[in-house]
Amino acid sequence: MAIAICIKCGHHKSGPFGTCANCGFSPPRHDYEANAKSLLLSTRYYDPIRDWRPSRADLDEYSQLIMSGTPIHWNDEVLKSLIEEQRCLNEHGSPSWLKIVVFVLLALLIPITAVLLSLTWIME
Ligand SMILES: [Zn+2]
Repeated sequence: MAIAICIKCGHHKSGPFGTCANCGFSPPRHDYEANAKSLLLSTRYYDPIRDWRPSRADLDEYSQLIMSGTPIHWNDEVLKSLIEEQRCLNEHGSPSWLKIVVFVLLALLIPITAVLLSLTWIME
């Protein structure tokens, strides 16, 4: 089970996008920033570049910061990329088969062109 921290009141909850039992807050579906922050404050989050996942101790620390009213210093770059990711998913849907088809066609186009070019070169 994931451990998450409510970004409004700092209480523990079972998942980043669930409703907080203490204050009733859950990140609204289209509030990308709230979703990104909620994900960051949970063990569900994993950063493949830094190979980092928040530990229970990290989350407890965040929890205390929020409860004491101390503003959290978010990593703007990470936050921005998480927001961008959600925007892409919502605007273009899940990885579409169309994109895959276009990609495969493009990938095939290069060798086909090469073969055609070499054929016309041989025939001359
Ligand atoms: Zn809460």
